[in-house]
Amino acid sequence: MAEIAEKDLHQQFASDNYAGVCPEAWAAMENANRGHVTSYGDDPWTAKAADAFRSLFETDCEVYFVFNGTAANSLALASLCQSYHSVICSDQSHVETDECGAPEFFSNGSKLLAAASADGKLSPASIRELATKRHDIHYPKPRAVTITQSTETGRVYALKDLDAIAEECKALGLSLHMDGARFANACASLGCSPAEMTWKRGVDVLCFGGAKNGMAVGEAVLFFDRALATDFDYRCKQAGQLASKMRFLSAPWVGMLESGAWLRNAEHANRCAQQFALLITSIPGVKLAQPVEANAVFIEASQEILSALRARGWSFYTFIGGAARFMFAWDTDPRRIEALSHDLFECATAAKPV
Ligand SMILES: *Cc1c(COP(=O)(O)O)cnc(C)c1O
Repeated sequence: MAEIAEKDLHQQFASDNYAGVCPEAWAAMENANRGHVTSYGDDPWTAKAADAFRSLFETDCEVYFVFNGTAANSLALASLCQSYHSVICSDQSHVETDECGAPEFFSNGSKLLAAASADGKLSPASIRELATKRHDIHYPKPRAVTITQSTETGRVYALKDLDAIAEECKALGLSLHMDGARFANACASLGCSPAEMTWKRGVDVLCFGGAKNGMAVGEAVLFFDRALATDFDYRCKQAGQLASKMRFLSAPWVGMLESGAWLRNAEHANRCAQQFALLITSIPGVKLAQPVEANAVFIEASQEILSALRARGWSFYTFIGGAARFMFAWDTDPRRIEALSHDLFECATAAKPV
């Protein structure tokens, strides 16, 4: 096989899932690669990983392991709804814009009701508006709310925001789901415990992301309201999300949680985002599109600047959040951030003023 060129492996910031596997997850996977154990989750590593989550969250929650975030979100939402129900979300949420209709598919038709949002966050007022605008039989009955922490736009709901949302959900009889593809980054940003950000505030179900936090693959679904988890194992199996060699999906979590890597990785990624934001603040023609609160930096710059940056070999997305997005990961090298900032500076100063 031809060698892969070093230059093709340079760090890019298009997404935090461009990164590889962190040493703690890798070691745990290796440790699990011994002997034979029972398949489909009835193994010691899966039991250990579920216990590690219960201990981290300080509660006796139900824990499931699936392959990816789309499945985690879709199956979790499906477990909150009947097919005639609806789920309130932000119009910038991953479930609405980046899951190819999977939440509707796995719920057999529960409709997403998307609220317009400038910053990607869902507000209590928009939840109320969508939940109460119709009460007749012709409209899908609102049953759940989904919020993303940290958001697709790199923002973080403060604890008081979560309280206000949970209170609204309670008043309206809606379950609360949290898409935590970047849950660790939100914990690192707020400096609060996982329990404080979830069940203590009224979150019923959390999808805790592993892939963007340094694992190869896998997300955990945590039901704080255990009654909602009824038959969730069947849902996973039917959806093709029940890993036969479950230990390789669960063991990395043991490594991540027991070592504290889950939080360290997120802290590093968040710090890198801050570093990049700081380095580019004085570049003419470039400005932040959103405050930097987690591991994302969204910038506004002219097409000319962005094209020049791409021509220098940098990858980034512009289809998310209406700006150019740069995501930082557990392994981001500060020197690559400096190189990116330097190139952005040169592209911006060479561009004609707008
Ligand atoms: C990445 C991401 C997911 C999960 O996506 P998959 O590619 O299906 O693993 C879910 N929600 C958000 C907000 C994400 O950024």
